[in-house]
Amino acid sequence: MTPPIAILGAGPSGLTLGRLLELANIPYIIFERDISAASTFTAGGTLDIHADSGQLALQEAGLIDQFKELAREDAPFALADAKGKIHTIFGEDGRTDRPEIDRKDLRALLLSSVPADRVRWGLRAQNVKRDTDGSMSVHFTNGSVELGFSLVVGADGVWSRARPLVTSAKPEYSGMYYLATSIKPDNPYFSSVVSLVGQGNYMALGDGKMVIAMKLGVGSYYIAVGLPLPEKWSTENAALLKDSAALRESLLHDHFVDWPLVHTDLIRNSDGDFYAWPLYSMPSESLSWKTVPGIALIGDAAHLTTPFSGEGVNCAMYDSLQLAQQIIKHGLDDLSGAVSEYERLMFLRAIDVIEKSAKSGKLMLAPDAPQGWLREFAGMDITE
Ligand SMILES: Cc1cc2nc3c(=O)[nH]c(=O)nc-3n(C[C@H](O)[C@H](O)[C@H](O)COP(=O)(O)OP(=O)(O)OC[C@H]3O[C@@H](n4cnc5c(N)ncnc54)[C@H](O)[C@@H]3O)c2cc1C
Repeated sequence: MTPPIAILGAGPSGLTLGRLLELANIPYIIFERDISAASTFTAGGTLDIHADSGQLALQEAGLIDQFKELAREDAPFALADAKGKIHTIFGEDGRTDRPEIDRKDLRALLLSSVPADRVRWGLRAQNVKRDTDGSMSVHFTNGSVELGFSLVVGADGVWSRARPLVTSAKPEYSGMYYLATSIKPDNPYFSSVVSLVGQGNYMALGDGKMVIAMKLGVGSYYIAVGLPLPEKWSTENAALLKDSAALRESLLHDHFVDWPLVHTDLIRNSDGDFYAWPLYSMPSESLSWKTVPGIALIGDAAHLTTPFSGEGVNCAMYDSLQLAQQIIKHGLDDLSGAVSEYERLMFLRAIDVIEKSAKSGKLMLAPDAPQGWLREFAGMDITE
């Protein structure tokens, strides 16, 4: 039998919703474009999961203890300027209330909490339609169609195929890319990264650019640079992107030539392929649509934001919690009522997160960074 609820995407938001519906005995099915759980995307860095949002969702999902076993609570975050002066280290004196978890570990935890037959792999949604009987259907790029859903939940991230049913708004390019690579434990430079970054994160800001290093659960370091680049840079530079040695040289000579060795050595000694991540955000004004029966959006599909506030995954998992709570409260006979109430709560949170992230990004990329950011976001009295 067709379950009443289809979820597009087995990312943090889709899987959290699946788990919460599972606990409430509400039937659902998740369609994911990845071929299998083994093809989980590993290029991402770590995610810090906040006590008042992401952790609350994991608590309600009955997964908080397993999460704490996987996450790193002793992960300090050093913030430096372009010259290498460290201005502050958050969480230096003890445990942070924002434990870090690798993207792939979070997905594995959530996946292990739903029955395997609730996730159908290798199905990339093309679009979602309302059929003449009022039910919803999902059409896939391989030509197959799944019919008869009462509610389709778009949890399919930045280029959501469910989003066009509720808004014509599209993600807007922020002007920034993250180019991410790694430094692995067998790299001769590894011990220098350990001295600089330790178990946590290091971020240097200045000249409208960023250098980031993060300790991953597998022991290696995620290394990324944030750069202003044209939106189509990755397609126009596909050959360069595949040639890590040439890209490293280009970064060092074209973008970080004035930066000190403490930062350029992270780029020079990196040892992995590069992954290019253009950063987009939904316009905050778009978060105001009228409830459309049969459709709900959660996570980045609803309110994609730049990563400068570290709220994206937290807001996404909290969406799942609030939508699940409303579905349980309203029941399957009033899914529109559930979605409408969820959207009212989500819009307020999401607008705040998008605006906060835009402001944070502006200060992180300002000429005097990180001072302005520390003043505004950490309440620090910076005089120099
Ligand atoms: C560089 C970068 C750094 C970030 N750092 C942080 C951070 O430090 N802290 C933080 O809180 N957030 C961070 N974020 C944001 C965070 O990653 C997202 O907010 C979060 O992953 C959103 O979860 P989601 O489940 O809504 O979407 P996603 O994680 O994008 O998951 C969507 C899922 O849907 C699948 N999918 C996509 N299209 C289709 C389709 N057509 N059909 C079927 N399946 C589909 C995808 O394969 C994926 O599994 C960062 C984002 C970026 C880009």
